[in-house]
Order: sequence, then structure tokens, then C-alpha cells
Amino acid sequence: MQLVEDFLSAKEEQEIIAAIKAAERNTSGEIRVHIEAKAVKDHYKRAVKIFSQLKMHKTKARNGMLLYISVLDKKFVIYGDKGINEVVEDDFWEATKNSIQAHFQKGTFKAGITAGIEVAGKALKRCFPFQKEDVDELSNEISKG
Ligand code: CA
Ligand code: CA
Repeated sequence: MQLVEDFLSAKEEQEIIAAIKAAERNTSGEIRVHIEAKAVKDHYKRAVKIFSQLKMHKTKARNGMLLYISVLDKKFVIYGDKGINEVVEDDFWEATKNSIQAHFQKGTFKAGITAGIEVAGKALKRCFPFQKEDVDELSNEISKG
């Protein structure tokens, strides 16, 4: 059984955190990554639950975005808060999903996660540009469940 610890090396984790920091230098949106080994029935529901557990709704502009990954199922969900959904089109996360999917299919997980963060950051920048007095409202650390 593959464990979360085997999924990413410490170095890869640092690269993901760096990607989050870089993305958040361009947008007031807050990006978090949650990785778990668990096999789950409904990935979307699980992502919504994690979003809430991480208190990701606690941003001023309600513009938090969670990238949830289930290692055992090789599945991921991108979940954005309501501040994002109110102002974007339905296919807003399409490019982000595609870049992650392309890497995951090749088995390059770290590259998929960092590429996804980069694309998501660019998309968020359009609706939520970086503000001068930006606060890092949500931790950039990878959350594991
Ligand atoms: Ca911020
Ligand atoms: Ca942050």
C-alpha cells in the first residue's frame, strides 16, 4: 500500500510549498494542497469536508482554493470557495485540471501538483490580483490526512 510519505519526498514537498508561495505573490487567492492515501467513494464530498476542516473559508474575499489528492485512487479535486465561483465561468479550473491530469497519467506527481498550482495561480490572478497589503491568510504547508 502506498503511503502519503512515499508519494512525495521532502524535497518535492518543499518545491510544492515554493510553488504555492510563488503563485500567491501574484494573487490574493489562497492555495492549499491536501494529500491522503485514503480510498474514498466521493472525492468531491471529501474535498469539501477537508476544505471546511482546514477552515479554508476564513479568507476575506472567500477566494481559497484546495487541491485535494487521493493517492490510492489517483484522483484529485480542485475546490474553490464561493468568492471565486461567484465571479468566474464554469470551466474556470479546466486548464488547471488538464495540466495536473496530464502529469498524473505519466506518473509525475510532483510536477503535476506544481504545474497545477502555477496554472491555478495565473487563473486566480485575473479575478483576484495581488494586493499591496496582502496577508498570507492560509498556511502554505501541505496538509496530510
Ligand atoms: Ca494572501
Ligand atoms: Ca497561503
